[in-house]
Amino acid sequence: MIKIPKTFRAAGKKYTVKWDNGKIMSRGLVGEADYSSCVVTLSKVDQTILLTRDSVEQVFIHELWHVACNALGEKKLGKDERLADAFSGIFHQMLSSGKGELV
Ligand SMILES: [Zn+2]
Repeated sequence: MIKIPKTFRAAGKKYTVKWDNGKIMSRGLVGEADYSSCVVTLSKVDQTILLTRDSVEQVFIHELWHVACNALGEKKLGKDERLADAFSGIFHQMLSSGKGELV
């Protein structure tokens, strides 16, 4: 399990993470990154199916990919949904499988 923060910073902008109130779900989305309002919205439900915690975490990392690409000015790269999914899958595995703490 990885931590999904309430806020984070990207290139000096403070982003807020919030649960969907039905807005993105009604458009068939499970996550969305809004760069203008600096809000990442996540849904716990896909259509009518309750997502697993792992799935929600991967969606969060997927949205982080979009935020990072936007912050870096990589607009074309940021629109690559296949790469966003691949990135979120491998990063979720790396972050959630970590053991111990290097101090
Ligand atoms: Zn996406």
